[in-house]
Amino acid sequence: MSEKMRENIEGIRYDIPPDLEQHVNITAIDKIYNWGRRSSLWPLMFGLACCGIEMICTAASRYDFARFGMEIMRPSPRQTDFMIISGTVTKKMVPQIVRLYNQMPEPKYVVAMGACASGGGPFKEGYNVVSGVDQYVPVDVYITGCPPTPQALLHGLITLQRKIDAQTIKQTRWYSKEPLEALPVPILGPDLMTPSQYEKIKAYSHQKMLEEQAQDTATAVESA
Ligand code: SF4
Repeated sequence: MSEKMRENIEGIRYDIPPDLEQHVNITAIDKIYNWGRRSSLWPLMFGLACCGIEMICTAASRYDFARFGMEIMRPSPRQTDFMIISGTVTKKMVPQIVRLYNQMPEPKYVVAMGACASGGGPFKEGYNVVSGVDQYVPVDVYITGCPPTPQALLHGLITLQRKIDAQTIKQTRWYSKEPLEALPVPILGPDLMTPSQYEKIKAYSHQKMLEEQAQDTATAVESA
């Protein structure tokens, strides 16, 4: 064996015979596996509001996220690697978002693009908007801005690539022995407030509040 040693990314050193030095490269399985995945991330073709326009712009020729292996936006969740939540997430839309997420194959990722997707944005606590999509699906990368610029979206996508680079197949959930459960799909009405029922819910909440106040007053009088 040659005295010459090679070092892989984990710092482990290997002997390589001299006649193979020009033909053999040693690396870690995680490095190759992650390189393949992070270099061909296919997004779901899916836009929700004004941020969607910036996402389209980022895909077009000036910014061109094809340079990062993301050019193939798929209309079917079955063929995608990640989902960009690009816009305001309304209560009516959340069930569809969770259903699409469940239909994506593992490994899968979610990018929350902009203030609306990350936390409700200018519509936070509005009667028809959820305060962040991460209440319903796991988010890997958050991008600030209203809307984020194409540069900011590209930075978020590069951040996602870095996250993938750091993963290891020893710990990824899609290789665990436990079966992967689908996320529960919220139902507009029982789980999410129905906007058409808003007045009724408000009246009910007001009534509950009055009852609680009366209860507090009675307790205070009793203890005095
Ligand atoms: Fe529109 Fe701003 Fe919300 Fe993006 S974050 S969807 S630009 S309101």
